[in-house]
Amino acid sequence: MTNPEIAIPSRAPAATMADDAVLPFEVAALDLRGRVVRLGPVVDQILEQHDYPQPVAKLLAEAVVLTVMLGSALKIDGRFILQTQTDGPVGLLVVDFITPGKVRACARFGKDGVAAAVAAGKADAGALLGKGHLAMTIDQGADTSRYQGLVALDGGSLEDAAHEYFLRSEQIPTRVRLAVAEELRAESGGARHHWRAGGIMLQFLPKSPERARVADLDPGDAPQGMKLLAVPEDDAWVQGRALLETVEDVELIDPAVSSERLVFRLFHEPGVRVFKMAAMRAECSCSRGSVEAMLKSFSQDDRDHMVEDGKISVTCEFCSANYVFAPGEVEAKVAT
Ligand SMILES: [Zn+2]
Repeated sequence: MTNPEIAIPSRAPAATMADDAVLPFEVAALDLRGRVVRLGPVVDQILEQHDYPQPVAKLLAEAVVLTVMLGSALKIDGRFILQTQTDGPVGLLVVDFITPGKVRACARFGKDGVAAAVAAGKADAGALLGKGHLAMTIDQGADTSRYQGLVALDGGSLEDAAHEYFLRSEQIPTRVRLAVAEELRAESGGARHHWRAGGIMLQFLPKSPERARVADLDPGDAPQGMKLLAVPEDDAWVQGRALLETVEDVELIDPAVSSERLVFRLFHEPGVRVFKMAAMRAECSCSRGSVEAMLKSFSQDDRDHMVEDGKISVTCEFCSANYVFAPGEVEAKVAT
């Protein structure tokens, strides 16, 4: 018998790609494709820039994992924006991904609503979000049309919304798992708190489309609210889905379990091939110049209302960077 450990692809000695990376993989024998997302410093940095209550931070981290999972699969250059707009205590989540691997994120929430949800023991994703929708936008620049996919949020998790989206809009059998955790790590000067997040996505993409049986409906012809036919699913997909269900949250975030090891653990029997890892980083695209240009585009009246203590102060909602201007600096040039 061969030792399965030997077949695990080796990792670069520096191991710098272990975190903040996406690993695409393929299980050819079962017509499955997928990706594993591992975020350490990326999600830690994003959440440290804000002072969100713990359940809000956790929810935003889940949204970051989902966004990275979907955005990193795009074959185009551009921007992928995931946004929720709902009536729950967390009214808005925005995650902004720029290919190939730059991400920033922020949330808007009602402090009292979140505190009440926590006190009532109902601070899970579905309860925090409430009802509304999740929008996914692909933006390839000013001269191109934007693509937007919409899915209803109805008290469910972001995983539920992703499943719904792929079933209805893309007609691809898909399973997504997201996990977020806090970690206390011993460091010089005492224990430090860190965030970690991870996820895995699995999709069934058979060459003969009739095998993806849930994909029989033509979205153009299916009336709104039409029930999907209860058809038996393909054995390969049933097997793949069952394997994915064995993934523990801890496997998605544990720094000791590499992404390669995880997919090998799951799919060594049918055989799995991993592709090149893609690195992710937390970076905001705001700059003093872009804030200045925005202020100059406002009316003089609007700018006058922004002056406080003789200066205009703008804080970036994504990264909390603060830009301060003297009113004269951002006056629009008036043609005389
Ligand atoms: Zn910023």
